[in-house]
Amino acid sequence: MAATRAYLDYNASAPLLPEARAAVVAALDAANPSSVHTEGRAARRLIEDARRDIARLVNAKPEHVVFTSGATEAASTLLTPDWQMGRGAVRMSRLYVSEADHPCVLGGGRFPAAQVTRVGVDRDGIADLDALAKALAAHDKADGLPLVAIHAANNETGVIQPVGRIAEIVKAAGGVLVVDAVQAAGRNPIDISAGYADYLILSSHKIGGPKGVGAIVVQSDLMMPKPLINGGGQEKGHRAGTENLPGIAGFGAAARAALVGLDDMEAIARHRDEIEAIVRELAPDAEIFGAAASRLANTTFFAIPGIKAETAQIAFDLAGVALSAGSACSSGKVGPSHVLKAMGHGDGLGALRVSIGRATGAEEIEAFRAALAGVIARQVGREKAGKEKAA
Ligand code: PLP
Repeated sequence: MAATRAYLDYNASAPLLPEARAAVVAALDAANPSSVHTEGRAARRLIEDARRDIARLVNAKPEHVVFTSGATEAASTLLTPDWQMGRGAVRMSRLYVSEADHPCVLGGGRFPAAQVTRVGVDRDGIADLDALAKALAAHDKADGLPLVAIHAANNETGVIQPVGRIAEIVKAAGGVLVVDAVQAAGRNPIDISAGYADYLILSSHKIGGPKGVGAIVVQSDLMMPKPLINGGGQEKGHRAGTENLPGIAGFGAAARAALVGLDDMEAIARHRDEIEAIVRELAPDAEIFGAAASRLANTTFFAIPGIKAETAQIAFDLAGVALSAGSACSSGKVGPSHVLKAMGHGDGLGALRVSIGRATGAEEIEAFRAALAGVIARQVGREKAGKEKAA
């Protein structure tokens, strides 16, 4: 067992940043931000400061940030047929998603399954833009507008979608675009003001903030989804319930750090490349998924013939290295990757995901090398024993 652990699972949840921890602790004693007294106004300031910092991360206006309990709630709020423009109702008659989206988008939110169209991805994980354009061209606007939702960067492969092109296609079709920027925010610059998306989905814990808080960021609040949670009118009526102040304050601090951290992406990409070089050196027949596409600097997703990802993940864990196999579900069980399947790679023996961050350095990379060497040596031993038994 390694003396210290190497945490290489940032896409599941990035470690809490010290500045986010401090902001969470400082906000624990805050009063109700809806109260008009001095204490309430101080609490309100914490929320508005965080709103400003999160808006800055994606170049939005602070008043265009709506806090939620995470990206999953943000997706469930946005992915609905029922929208409002002022007092008028607006209908979205069909949702278009990609096969490689996160389950919170792939599930279609509040759309009935029959009103969800899934667009395929190619072997590199890029959405089929022709198929999307074709589907949107066939959309009958008499029943309502088309709503398109797609991830900016994939949580398993790190593959980055051509969101600019997708936005053009959606705009030309008179549709509305929701971009799940959970994995891309803080790792790639995002500018919602430049027509990148109509609505963004963000999550605090992927950028070093606390879990259980996220946001919807809108380019314009003229048209908004019918709220998922109704009640006391918080968040301008878009999301009721007393705000999760410690979570929001921590999210704001993490967003501030993430904006500065965008400068570190080259160094992170070098570390990711070192990890991939180790994989190729120790397992020359390994396949790295999405390697031909533009990817997040921090992510690599690979399969090694003969090595079962779930078993290897346990061996890595015992060797002190935390990484993911396939995609980790909330229950902790690991299933076949729907992303790999969508990319046409079949189920196979699954794949391992290494996702890193600013704190990843030479020690973690060496721990990865030693653990992978152990996994491969055991596999070679098993194959040899199998052959001897058969002979
Ligand atoms: N979207 C993507 C791309 C994700 O990777 C995740 C989390 O893994 C989510 C959405 C859901 O985020 P949350 O945990 O905040 O609900």
